[in-house]
Amino acid sequence: MTTTDSTGQTGQSGSPDSAGPTNWASIEAIADAVRVCTKCRLHSDRINAVPGDGSPVASILIIGEGPGFNEDQRGLPFVGRSGKLLDELLATVPLSRDDVFITNVVKCRPPDNRDPLPDEVSACRPYLERQMELLDPKVIVTLGRHSLLRFYPEGRISKDHGKILRWGDRILFPLYHPAAGLRNPAVKRELERDVLRLPEALRESLMTPGQRATPIGQANTTSAPGSETPTSVDAEISGTEEVDKKRFETVIENELVEEKGERQLGLL
Ligand code: SF4
Repeated sequence: MTTTDSTGQTGQSGSPDSAGPTNWASIEAIADAVRVCTKCRLHSDRINAVPGDGSPVASILIIGEGPGFNEDQRGLPFVGRSGKLLDELLATVPLSRDDVFITNVVKCRPPDNRDPLPDEVSACRPYLERQMELLDPKVIVTLGRHSLLRFYPEGRISKDHGKILRWGDRILFPLYHPAAGLRNPAVKRELERDVLRLPEALRESLMTPGQRATPIGQANTTSAPGSETPTSVDAEISGTEEVDKKRFETVIENELVEEKGERQLGLL
């Protein structure tokens, strides 16, 4: 099927194999392709693919790991309890879903909410890459460990959450997954504190190179996501803070293991 976007450009929807990975002319054309995609095994158990939702001109792109039970049922991202917490967090900034675009690394629910496998992430990559090209977001907010690793393989969510990281011409802003916040009040407090920096991340993204506190690192905006090394625009933390953070990291690592168990039970 040929689609036409608001600029009059045409593109193909439907099977990505017939359309090529970068031909979609609009966010909706990508969504059409995702809904009929059979490029990886995850298509076989899905009820609905979840292409993403939100403003097609958003400056902020929020990326989770993959759809869960509720998302699979409705074909929309973050519609369960985690989604409600995400809405509450955004409202404190204040932002709503109409101000952002929300999607996932993989667009179909992994069975039992397991982690997406590398070949599934790879098969789904063209959709996310094209969404990023079309949206051209200033700030990419990753939710949880797996979404962060997608962009920053050396990253650690327990260390990097809430940091404003420069990633090419964009800002990478890692947050804990809201599901972890639902399980652990300490993580929720971190989330609530971190999200308050989102306006600062957006401001940083709008700075010209001469205005930036820290020069851009090795990032290259034309290379594939995951091949770049973000640089922090934050000051180094003190030794005392480092000790406190290490204690907290241990709690969080345990929390993530427990969280996965509950997700597999479909509780989050
Ligand atoms: S997860 Fe992505 S690549 Fe796999 S079937 Fe769904 S849309 Fe296609």
